Amino acid sequence: TSMEYRYLGKSGLMVSCLSLGGWVTYGGQVSPEVAQMCMKTAFDNGINFFDTAEVYSGGQCEIDMGVAIRKFGWKRSDLVISTKLFWGGKGPNDRGLSRKHIVEGTDASLKRLQLDYVDLLYAHRPDPDTPMEEIVRAFNFVIEQGKAFYWGTSEWSGQQICEAHAVAQRLNLIAPLMEQPQYNMFHRDRVEKEYLPLYKTFGMGATTWSPLASGLLSGKYNDGVPPDSRLAIEDNAVMKRLRESLESEDGRVKIQKVAQLGHIAQQLGCTTAQLCLAWCLKNPNLSSVITGASRPSQIEENVKALQVVPLLTEEVMEAIEGVLQNRPVL
Ligand code: NDP
Repeated sequence: TSMEYRYLGKSGLMVSCLSLGGWVTYGGQVSPEVAQMCMKTAFDNGINFFDTAEVYSGGQCEIDMGVAIRKFGWKRSDLVISTKLFWGGKGPNDRGLSRKHIVEGTDASLKRLQLDYVDLLYAHRPDPDTPMEEIVRAFNFVIEQGKAFYWGTSEWSGQQICEAHAVAQRLNLIAPLMEQPQYNMFHRDRVEKEYLPLYKTFGMGATTWSPLASGLLSGKYNDGVPPDSRLAIEDNAVMKRLRESLESEDGRVKIQKVAQLGHIAQQLGCTTAQLCLAWCLKNPNLSSVITGASRPSQIEENVKALQVVPLLTEEVMEAIEGVLQNRPVL
């Protein structure tokens, strides 16, 4: 496979259009050795962008991903590393987007990652309790200090992002460059509708998460929850909720749709996961689709989604819309 690299929004930075993140998996579900093998498989397939967060597995995700980065002796300039700040610990000042937490949280993340800087630093959620001027100033400061190159937002509303840009413009500070929203066949409105003006007006890039809806869109849950899958994890509240949601009416409808998508994939000669990833990649406003993987074989399968993109003709895209029935009304 030859990887495709896209500009991150209007910036001059190039990110692989498929990237790899560590949520739930690295520092948690799998051993450091498996995390290393996954990252190596990704890198060997041209993935240069790796995503983590201070909150993932209580900091252990950054530690395990940092060890992998060191171990293989990759050139720093060949990597784009991102982390996210918001939930840094239990203390009243270990969370949110105060200047104190942005500055201290960045330092703590860099220490866990064993890095001098990250390429991308995200505000993991909006913080309505901190003034926007304080937030923009703090990210600007961290960038001026050389501890990050670009900053962005994750799951902010279009309006909150516009406010950040207005503050940055007024004070001549660095504005957010990218958003990290959820985007998959079951979750479309923000990326396809709400954010449209942001790509145009501000040149923002989207780096999207959960392209397989935590694995649901691979078809692996069509006949129940396999014991070696993420949703089988017992002591994780998010996975418990997802597992239970499969039993609901909404969950059953989704599983039926995944099975129908499986037929489309079969006709194209690809897997359901590849079809769903390729469908994300078709969207030109996406700079990178952040994938997840608990084993190297999933990465090998998922990077081949690049070869499926050209097979998604208008006719196939319409067939997919026919299954999904959730096209955003613009
Ligand atoms: P996905 O929806 O793609 O789910 C990935 C999981 O699905 C894998 O860990 C694996 O789990 C399973 N899987 C992947 N490929 C296959 C395959 N080919 N066949 C079968 N199963 C497969 O992405 P994530 O939910 O992991 O999100 C990706 C990244 O996005 C995260 O790591 C994180 O960096 C970021 N993210 C950001 C958020 C934010 O708020 N900003 C929130 C959530 C994620 P298993 O083998 O255990 O079944």
